[in-house]
Amino acid sequence: MTTFNTEMNTTNFLKTYGWDEAREASLKSLNLVNATPARILYRNRNVYQLMTAYGLLQGALSGKYQHEHELSEYPVVGDWVLIDHKGDLGVIHTLLPRKGKFSRKEAGTLTNEQVLAANVDYIFIVTGLDSNFNLSRIQRYRTVVIEGGAQPIIVLNKVDLCDHLDEKIAALRNIIPEDPIHAVSTFTGEGLESLEGYLKPGITVAFFGSSGVGKSSLTNALTKESHMTTSAVGATHGKGRHTTSTAEMFALASGGILIDTPGIREIQIWCHEDAVEIGFEDIAQLGAQCRFENCSHKAEPGCAIKLALKTGALSERHFDNYNNMKREAKHIEFKQRQKERISNKPERKNRPRQKSFESTAD
Ligand code: GDP
Ligand code: ZN
Repeated sequence: MTTFNTEMNTTNFLKTYGWDEAREASLKSLNLVNATPARILYRNRNVYQLMTAYGLLQGALSGKYQHEHELSEYPVVGDWVLIDHKGDLGVIHTLLPRKGKFSRKEAGTLTNEQVLAANVDYIFIVTGLDSNFNLSRIQRYRTVVIEGGAQPIIVLNKVDLCDHLDEKIAALRNIIPEDPIHAVSTFTGEGLESLEGYLKPGITVAFFGSSGVGKSSLTNALTKESHMTTSAVGATHGKGRHTTSTAEMFALASGGILIDTPGIREIQIWCHEDAVEIGFEDIAQLGAQCRFENCSHKAEPGCAIKLALKTGALSERHFDNYNNMKREAKHIEFKQRQKERISNKPERKNRPRQKSFESTAD
């Protein structure tokens, strides 16, 4: 139906899907002939739905890619890939560098990483302003968002139920001085227009939050005039198999893109110890003032954190959260290293790896 090549003006159409100059440059640097960039809208095992400059296409990983990569290295929703075109099928052969990714621990294991989505720009961290409101949970999510390379936007939903909004926002500001905070209600519509401001062409967003906070209601409110991209795929190919229950990327009327998958919504923590520091900037800053660089904040003299705890400038609870997260991250890293030692047996060491992927692996 169409001829595929890199020379044509891929950029204009793909820009609305998040294609940008950095990606254009990485494509050029690969110097490949006849490679078409595509964004992954949906994945079910090795069945991919791809958005290309020519429209939607069904795709699959090349045999070579499957042979050379672990499952955890397969492209996921939100990824940009390069494909060749075989009839109506896009054959995926290269994963372009990611700006960020979200992963979780594989079910039933402690440390197997399962990548859920890539290249998300903003994450709406949704909390209910009812009994659900929980500062430390917001902070945990925020750490994951930053670690995943996205910008956190705090959304306090159900403002219609809240009598003490100012207090709650003040408490939040105390621990998160800089992130945008929006109080909204999907019932009254209050504040929703302020969220629409983030949904610009080329921008990819997703929701985080526990069950019942209003993510579905928000999605419905923000996508009321949008169409489900995967439905369009179904229509194009005359197969509606994935159209109803497992939509993963929505093209919004505003031009933004929404990644919506259960895995992402109920994200489990997957982060490095350093990422904890990012999520708790205030504690990291305090820690930098301790007399000893490697202060454990337990018994050392000149400890800025102990002092702050004493004066109340730092709350015990906040510091406990920090320590719990550090412990959790440490444990995951320990297990990860253990696993690597086991899997680095000589016969697996020389496993071939595709160059283009290696640059994206960290
Ligand atoms: P999800 O599990 O995060 O997707 O949450 P839902 O969107 O399913 O909403 C959970 C419950 O909260 C439902 O009963 C909604 O009707 C209710 N809800 C959602 N938004 C609001 C709101 O702004 N105000 C109030 N009072 N209830 C809301
Ligand atoms: Zn200290």
